Amino acid sequence: MNIVLLGAPGAGKGTHSEMLVRDFGLKHISTGDLLRAELKKASPVGLEAKSYMDKGSLVPDAVVMKLLVGAIAGIKHGNGFLLDGFPRNESQAGMLEEELASRNMNIDRVLYLNVSKDVVIKRLTGRRICKSCGAVYHVFNMPPKREGVCDKCGGDLYQRPDDTEETVLRRLEVYRKETEGLINYYKTRKILAEVNADLSRDNTYGLILQKLGKK
Ligand code: AMP
Repeated sequence: MNIVLLGAPGAGKGTHSEMLVRDFGLKHISTGDLLRAELKKASPVGLEAKSYMDKGSLVPDAVVMKLLVGAIAGIKHGNGFLLDGFPRNESQAGMLEEELASRNMNIDRVLYLNVSKDVVIKRLTGRRICKSCGAVYHVFNMPPKREGVCDKCGGDLYQRPDDTEETVLRRLEVYRKETEGLINYYKTRKILAEVNADLSRDNTYGLILQKLGKK
């Protein structure tokens, strides 16, 4: 089962990716995570991406595509993959289709997590992430047992620099202009499944399982 998770920043793509990967053994490919890993290494790709990411703009397609192709090439035949944060525009969607076709692969389902703007702003500005294992918390909705410390591994929690209110608004605008059109793109291909992502994590996940025929 190969899945794309589509939705605005803060729709819960990261959280639900974690749950789907845990339950179905999918390979998780997040272009945001791949870019942040390059940034941490201070590689040329990371340095090029930084200025775009800090502003909440999209990193150029060629840069992201290189990372994505590397990740897809590393997939062993297994249970399938889950794409989180890719594609972000129609040009990326087209390149993805070509890349997969050349490997006799395809996308089975696009899960569109539909979330409202108010919910996104509250979610993202309160989001905290573990520096060591990447686990996601929220200062109100899902606080760690000890403030600033990861329950799972004891690592330090931090706020992504692009989760400030100003950058969140910019990211939402970029989503509206560049990414939202993909909803129709996948609707016409008849693989889109829409889920209400304003609900609690577990309720939204229940809907996702229904759409995947797993419940
Ligand atoms: P994310 O973790 O998916 O919210 O991505 C964080 C940032 O990484 C985005 O705001 C973009 O700057 C960049 N990014 C992630 N995925 C892509 C993509 N598919 N295309 C362009 N930029 C991306």
